[in-house]
Amino acid sequence: MKNEAAGGCGPERPRPIRSHTSDPWRIGLALVAAVASAVATPVSAQEADAAVADASASHARLVILGTGTPNADPDRSGPAVAVVVGGQAYLVDAGAGIVRRAAAASARHGIDALAPSGLDRLFLTHLHSDHTVGLPDVIFSPWVLERPDPIVIFGPPGTAYMVDHVQEAWKEDVHMRLFGLEPHDYNRDAYRSPVTETRGGPVYEDEHVRVTAIPVMHGSWPHSLGYRFDALGPDGAAGRTIVISGDARPSESLVEACDGCDILVHEVYSAETFKGRPPEWQRYHADSHTSTVELADIATRARPGLLVMYHQLYWGATDEDLVREVREAGYTGRVVSAADLDVY
Ligand SMILES: [Zn+2]
Ligand SMILES: [Zn+2]
Repeated sequence: MKNEAAGGCGPERPRPIRSHTSDPWRIGLALVAAVASAVATPVSAQEADAAVADASASHARLVILGTGTPNADPDRSGPAVAVVVGGQAYLVDAGAGIVRRAAAASARHGIDALAPSGLDRLFLTHLHSDHTVGLPDVIFSPWVLERPDPIVIFGPPGTAYMVDHVQEAWKEDVHMRLFGLEPHDYNRDAYRSPVTETRGGPVYEDEHVRVTAIPVMHGSWPHSLGYRFDALGPDGAAGRTIVISGDARPSESLVEACDGCDILVHEVYSAETFKGRPPEWQRYHADSHTSTVELADIATRARPGLLVMYHQLYWGATDEDLVREVREAGYTGRVVSAADLDVY
């Protein structure tokens, strides 16, 4: 796969971390979850049948936890998705409400990996608050709920500083839980979160998945990332490939990273209702995000099996409007506008 990270921006190659999911007990849960998922009904009707069939074939699923933006829409939690492979969940971004949305997805779709005790892999796209305000939630809440291991966090430069300060901010809570009367026969150190920073390139690998960080352009952020997940099938064969944009204005790196991938998850705003935005906001959005018209061009060249729009900026448009705009701009592939708790 071509990737900008192979260029001069100094890709880092942190050591691969072996997952603990070779544990047969967890794999057993994964099989239960896979069976349960196969009979669950995804929320998004248009692609439901095909999506479930695809997912069961490759044992990799995309779970939309939050499609929201900084707007406090009660139906759209903060931006976060999960790739679930082989009984392990890999979270991308930590928007507001992430732990509760993961618990909801776990209950609705029978995915045990999204129960609080399974939330131990997180990939941050960038450090905007709407993508990271759930960080203390995903660090501490599952710890209190007896997550056996710390959450391992990957993200752009600045992630370690943010995580260190979250740990510092909650140090009185940690002290009280460890040295107060609260019973804790769980891992006392599982609130500590190892961080690996990356500017792009291969960042993580285990028996279920290979993860590559993709540098994208997003306003004036010096480091903003998308991620490509190459899932491994149960027999070690190549499984589904899922590319997630994070926040990005049109970025050639995402086209190259997808290149016929199974699912491209891409942020979007309505090109039609954008016209009604004040000029100063138009400048900001054009520099930071991707319109439906631009996304049609990206997806046409990236050729995903399914284009999933998330982190939508509607400004009065509907999901149907977004799909129509992408189609009218010339994209002829499969496309959906995601809702929270959709599974693809
Ligand atoms: Zn955002
Ligand atoms: Zn952003």
